[in-house]
Amino acid sequence: PVRVRFCPSPTGNPHVGLVRTALFNWAFARHHGGTLVFRIEDTDAARDSEESYEQLLDSMRWLGFDWDEGPEIGGPHAPYRQSQRMDIYADVARKLQEGGFAYECFCTTEELDARRDAARKAGKPSGYDGKCRDLSAEQIAAYRAEGRTPIVRFRMPDTPITFTDLVRGELTFTPENVPDFGIVRANGAPLYTLVNPVDDALMEITHVLRGEDLLSSTPRQIALYGALAQIGVGNGTVPAFGHLPYVMGEGNKKLSKRDPQASLNLYRERGFLPEGLLNYLSLLGWSLSEDRDIFSVEEMVAAFDLGDVNANPARFDLKKCEAINATHLRALAPDEFARRLVPFLFPGRGPSDAELELLAKAAPLTQERMVVLGEAVGMLGFLFVKPEHFRVDEADAAKVLTEDAKPVLEASIRALEELADFTPEPIQATLREALVDGLGIKPKFAFTPLRVAVTGRRVSPPLFESMELLGREETLRRLRAAL
Ligand code: GLU
Repeated sequence: PVRVRFCPSPTGNPHVGLVRTALFNWAFARHHGGTLVFRIEDTDAARDSEESYEQLLDSMRWLGFDWDEGPEIGGPHAPYRQSQRMDIYADVARKLQEGGFAYECFCTTEELDARRDAARKAGKPSGYDGKCRDLSAEQIAAYRAEGRTPIVRFRMPDTPITFTDLVRGELTFTPENVPDFGIVRANGAPLYTLVNPVDDALMEITHVLRGEDLLSSTPRQIALYGALAQIGVGNGTVPAFGHLPYVMGEGNKKLSKRDPQASLNLYRERGFLPEGLLNYLSLLGWSLSEDRDIFSVEEMVAAFDLGDVNANPARFDLKKCEAINATHLRALAPDEFARRLVPFLFPGRGPSDAELELLAKAAPLTQERMVVLGEAVGMLGFLFVKPEHFRVDEADAAKVLTEDAKPVLEASIRALEELADFTPEPIQATLREALVDGLGIKPKFAFTPLRVAVTGRRVSPPLFESMELLGREETLRRLRAAL
């Protein structure tokens, strides 16, 4: 059975690279009817935060992911927060040392740096040189007497490590390139290099799918797995590894966590749909078929095959992301579209029944015109503000509500005051008659001042429908106010 994991560290805001990793793991698990384990890698007290942890969970839920084992739901390998598993790691580290798979290293940072620099100058491999690999009891005692506190270092095998990456094929790492590495800090804190493979082994993970930036830790983890099997941790099977391609941002530089474009919250706040964002992120390294880039998450799950993941770097293209979102937005049923606008139009409060009714009528006027839900605030806000809070956009007013607009506004007010049937077609007919026939103004110029006066902006839903929704009284009040 397939068992995959999503195991972020709760440091900072979730970013799109993280979401892509979660998506590929989730799709892979669901495609194979497997298990998705959600594990929190919070062993770095200095960088992890509870706030970031809460945000991670909230983001995963918002995106629509579910997991089979993990925080809040538990599971057979609980706990799923590494900060609650510290005694497990201490125990494993001790057993690794007892078995000779790891050793205490007393080298200080200064000594390591000096030797690394010397090796570099001599053109030799600059990783750890193995100085403390086979210390005698006397040497250890002497170091301790000096007051040194050791780290624990894993002993890498002296033979090359080969594995078949599920995305990039067979890879070989030679010993010079994978020196012995630290697994426990001098203060006793276990490192990622230890806790990640230990948990993967204990949680019986079968496939590790993660970003290419972690490729260099894979040979170490495979070696560590070998040792874990010998000390009886886990069931002895090494997972298959697949490394997802880098995501490049602006200027063809790797998209970094700190890049504002990478922040998930930004997309959520702007009003991307989870399904639109996931559709786009799935294309960062994968495709459903050559001629289709719009699909649902269900379609992705049904088709997901690691064999289709591309090893080449993917480019994050905001324009394309927006276009895909707009397509998903248009595909929503009108009442669903209206429902999704609610948190944007009525932040922090529930709308009244009258407002909901108005929204149901107004939303369809904008569905074709929006890229993200957040645009509703500018486009539809004019319908929901209290009359005393309504303001026209200053820049638009300065451009459009000039002296020339006066006769237009006056003639419109007169025409609308007398109109019996205040619905779009009669509104349009009577305004046309008053402005185009009566004043001889081109339609293009005739209606813009009205639009700004009534909706507050030059870009708005269709004018006559907007007037109807606003009602005669409020429409006239705004036209008079503009005058
Ligand atoms: N906690 C690690 C990270 O967020 C997990 C890496 C992995 O998938 O092995 O980078």
